[in-house]
Amino acid sequence: MSRFRSLLSLLPLLAVACAAPATDRRPERPNLVVLFADDLGYGDLGCFGHPIIRTPNLDRMAAEGTRFTQFYSASPACTASRYSLLTGRLAARSGFAWVLVPSSPRGLHAAERTLADELREAGYATAAVGKWHLGNRPEFLPLAHGFDEYLGLPYSNDMLPPRWPPIPPLEGDKEVESGPDQSTLTRRYTERALSFIDRNRDRPFFLYLAYAMPHVPLHPGAAFAGRSPRGAYGDAVEEIDWSVGRILDRLRRLGLAERTLVLFTSDNGPWIIKGLDGGSAGLLRDGKGSTWEGGMREPAIFWWPGTVPAGRVERAVASTLDLFPTALELAGRPLPEPGRGRNGAVLDGRSILPLLLGRGAPEDRPFFYHGPGHVLHAVRLGRWKLHLKTSSQTGKEYFEGRVPLLFDLERDPSETRDLAAEEPEVVARLTALAAEHEREVAEHGSFWDRG
Ligand code: MG
Repeated sequence: MSRFRSLLSLLPLLAVACAAPATDRRPERPNLVVLFADDLGYGDLGCFGHPIIRTPNLDRMAAEGTRFTQFYSASPACTASRYSLLTGRLAARSGFAWVLVPSSPRGLHAAERTLADELREAGYATAAVGKWHLGNRPEFLPLAHGFDEYLGLPYSNDMLPPRWPPIPPLEGDKEVESGPDQSTLTRRYTERALSFIDRNRDRPFFLYLAYAMPHVPLHPGAAFAGRSPRGAYGDAVEEIDWSVGRILDRLRRLGLAERTLVLFTSDNGPWIIKGLDGGSAGLLRDGKGSTWEGGMREPAIFWWPGTVPAGRVERAVASTLDLFPTALELAGRPLPEPGRGRNGAVLDGRSILPLLLGRGAPEDRPFFYHGPGHVLHAVRLGRWKLHLKTSSQTGKEYFEGRVPLLFDLERDPSETRDLAAEEPEVVARLTALAAEHEREVAEHGSFWDRG
């Protein structure tokens, strides 16, 4: 009996031990790799439903990891979305133009804390490879913002002569050539990424690889040009797929797969006004530059064998704003106070570690859609999305330009049936949320505005 009793007393301990999933044994300070496509649409990967473009490596990544189907970029434009990914802050707080051009006087302010600043302080090696687009003066470039090394183009691959000087590819902050052969970019970026991984295999690292493609002008590499039935756009996406495959293979071969979180996603939706040179948002409305779902909802795959469950689909809402707090939590750098960064700046994201571990949905929180000029266009809470303003690069006035518009994104992900007249209480609640958000953003201002 006494033996039975002592066994009974062990039961709670056993229950705790059995309930603790393998994911609790995840390594401290895992590596972080962010693979960021440019202007790739929600519908452009095999594992997100494209019928023609071949993406076997990304499909395998999804089968070995978790695919998010309601994952957003924080902005439908290149510059703003990169700012948000790297700072965890809405670009309405950046103090610079929606899209920067080579002559822009402002860029990433010296007081901003980037993911690279934070992870470097946690002992990580840090590298940026590819498109930067957060200002091209030395004080705005990656080396001034936490990255140990940089190879890439400081702004968009379509800012070209005669309007602009030839694009200078940079090594660190030094120009290494002028007007590069863009068809070599994906291959060169991949080689640099592999070299960085090789050189830092024995310590934590953060790799931010921002591809130039499939942003127009499309320049797939020689080994890919002319191969996809989908044309040059398909070629460019298939080359990115090849690149992702090489990077994941290298992580596996070095024994780093179980110590590395990899995110693949895109900076904004497809550039649909470019016709067949632009991508597809699948079942979502519109594309780049617009706050309709096609402009900001992106394909997203998280991969971390042994920690992020394999073959899962996550339907909770999340965004690139969440990467910053999630990475800090993984690196053992809790935020000093809720919602605030170390520099006193407002942070907009939340850690999505529970979602990555497959442990259920967080509480509902609003997601704000900022359109051209960082103007608040729409807000989502749970299944509901309220448009207060709309715009499209196509010039189309959907719903005759009427606002507000209310959609149930779960029943109607394509935003076809306006329910504003039927759900006045929801409209009122989301309108109040939007007004409160605008007040808060205006109150805090940017580092530039503080002088
Ligand atoms: Mg883009």
